[in-house]
Amino acid sequence: MARIVMKFGGTSVADLDRIRSVASRIRRQVEAGDEVAVVVSAMSGVTNQLVGYCQSLSPLHDAREYDAVVATGEQVTSGLLAIALQTAGVDARSWSGWQVALRTDGAHGKARIEAIEGERLLARMRSGQVPVVAGFQGIGPDNRVTTLGRGGSDTSAVALAAALKADRCDIYTDVDGVYTTDPRIVRRARRLPKIAYEEMLELASVGAKVLQTRSVELAMKERVRVQVLSSFVDGPVPFENGTDSLLPGTMVVDEDEIVEKEIVAGIAYSRDDAKVTVRKVPDRPGVAAAVFGPLAEAHVNVDMIVQSTGADGTTDMTFTVGKAELPHAIAVLAAARGDIQYGELLTDPDVAKISVVGVGMRSHAGVASTMFRTLSDRSINIQVISTSEIKVSVLIASDYTELAVRALHSAYGLDVG
Ligand code: ASP
Ligand code: MG
Repeated sequence: MARIVMKFGGTSVADLDRIRSVASRIRRQVEAGDEVAVVVSAMSGVTNQLVGYCQSLSPLHDAREYDAVVATGEQVTSGLLAIALQTAGVDARSWSGWQVALRTDGAHGKARIEAIEGERLLARMRSGQVPVVAGFQGIGPDNRVTTLGRGGSDTSAVALAAALKADRCDIYTDVDGVYTTDPRIVRRARRLPKIAYEEMLELASVGAKVLQTRSVELAMKERVRVQVLSSFVDGPVPFENGTDSLLPGTMVVDEDEIVEKEIVAGIAYSRDDAKVTVRKVPDRPGVAAAVFGPLAEAHVNVDMIVQSTGADGTTDMTFTVGKAELPHAIAVLAAARGDIQYGELLTDPDVAKISVVGVGMRSHAGVASTMFRTLSDRSINIQVISTSEIKVSVLIASDYTELAVRALHSAYGLDVG
């Protein structure tokens, strides 16, 4: 017998048929003898619609009321799934965030979980009842409903799994696991039976959209075993049988648990960034602070940075910001022009960030140089580079995204077959 948190994303509960099919999957898990708690997202598209309503009424709406509105999506699915489970003969009831209670800080719209009172849920689970918890929501110190930020129901599920000391957190979605890269771009991409927390964290933060980044952070910190599975593939109840290649989805685990280690686990891409170049800044101590200080104060997140110094005593600073933050960044830099004394401000939204990720990089040299050579062989120009211990990212013209991803996938020997 295992204690399992099963989480179902928006496409998995998109309509009543899907909800019925989810209910029978849960029933199979219960019949296999497991103790089960369920976390649900809103039906797909619902949260976007609710966010849209708030924005249409007022772009500067009250964040507490925004939370009151957008949290309803998950409440609907938790109730519907509880009904479907009862109809299928499974003892179940819905729980909203405040009923659990899942306590958060007061940052409405992007709250962080502080504590989960899991005792009552556990008691119900022990007596054979399945709690169906509305994901994405909690209760703040002001006693009002909070939400955790978009994609937050993954984090609800992992946090609940940690609080309940569950053996596993199964995240059901519309793909059957984490792939070496986006299978829509590379048909020969393959599913990874296991991936290390650190790798998943880097992949999630550079564009692989399977799991919310914060949920991976939390899983890593609390050592929650997370399994990504498809709710669209009918199969037996997931189990672990020791042979990696027979696991049904992708298991996110400690690095030591991965036997068949690859140097590069995956390749991710993102078109969410824009490039900014501040040209001809007088090259003296303090210039970086003068450029990035005002951006930080304005809460503009800067990612990749490169500085190139010319012979004329000036320097160029090139960096990336989120595309949505570009207008804000331009305004901040224009206002700081007197202090920075730059010659010119250039921006380019048509860029893509391509990243290769793998814990094997810690012990293997040459991963970065393979990347650079592969791109240069395809005449793809690298505009900015950044690295971490287990990741190399480059910025290129977005037109070359697919070409770059395919070439790199082959270059690191990741193509299947
Ligand atoms: N329904 C919320 C969203 O769409 C939370 C989630 O699905 O994870 O962002
Ligand atoms: Mg999601």
